[in-house]
Amino acid sequence: MSKAKQPKYRRILLKLSGEALGGESGVGISPQAVRDMANQIREVRDLGVQVVVVVGGGNIFRGLSGSQRGIERATGDYMGMLATVINGLALQDALEKLGVATRVQSAIAMSQVAEPFIRRRAVRHLEKGRVVIFGGGTGNPYFSTDTAAALRANEIGAEVVLKATKVDGVYDSDPKKNSRAKRYSQISYSEALRQQLKVMDSTAFSLCMDNKMPIVVFDFFRPHNLRRVVMGERVGTLVRN
Ligand code: UDP
Repeated sequence: MSKAKQPKYRRILLKLSGEALGGESGVGISPQAVRDMANQIREVRDLGVQVVVVVGGGNIFRGLSGSQRGIERATGDYMGMLATVINGLALQDALEKLGVATRVQSAIAMSQVAEPFIRRRAVRHLEKGRVVIFGGGTGNPYFSTDTAAALRANEIGAEVVLKATKVDGVYDSDPKKNSRAKRYSQISYSEALRQQLKVMDSTAFSLCMDNKMPIVVFDFFRPHNLRRVVMGERVGTLVRN
């Protein structure tokens, strides 16, 4: 009897933008979009893959755009970090409704709603099959949740950062503007830098590059795509050494 195919990754960090939780409009929280995400996460958890999720907050608030409208940057950034916790709770709710045990850990103390971020505890949760959702970004203003994803992936020993987007990978030019835009199935960090391809913000990207943390950029809105990535199918773009 042939052995069933094993997942390519055993421990993944999934980065979800706030926009993704907003569904079609990208604003606020779409219960349907959150349910769809939870279903995809359950699918890979059921394969025995350990899943950590870092959630963004752009569907609710972004510090930079707040500062353009007169809110002090650091204050706006804290507002953005709080937004990520709201999103984390929404995702937790959807996952638990599917019978998936979860824990939310926040980089900002919020003991009534989330555990504090404790690396060893997070790893223990993963070993017990719980999905761990990291809210609060890095806990510091002037950073992004992409940077939080890169940081936490390294800290907890994830094998890859899976960056969920609405496009199916990294292109050499904007596919919405250029019909001849070419998608990379794989690209090196140095080539992505040379071509100034916006995979992640520069802090997040260099954290991954310096620590040889692979990044997969993929379309999370295609059903079962997360599973495909985890099973090692050539989906999206793999950025690595
Ligand atoms: N943020 C921050 N520090 C962090 C992570 C996030 O200050 O470590 C703030 C920042 O204002 C950011 C907002 O939280 O704009 C929402 O996060 P992000 O823009 O990364 O969310 P996404 O684009 O993934 O939805």
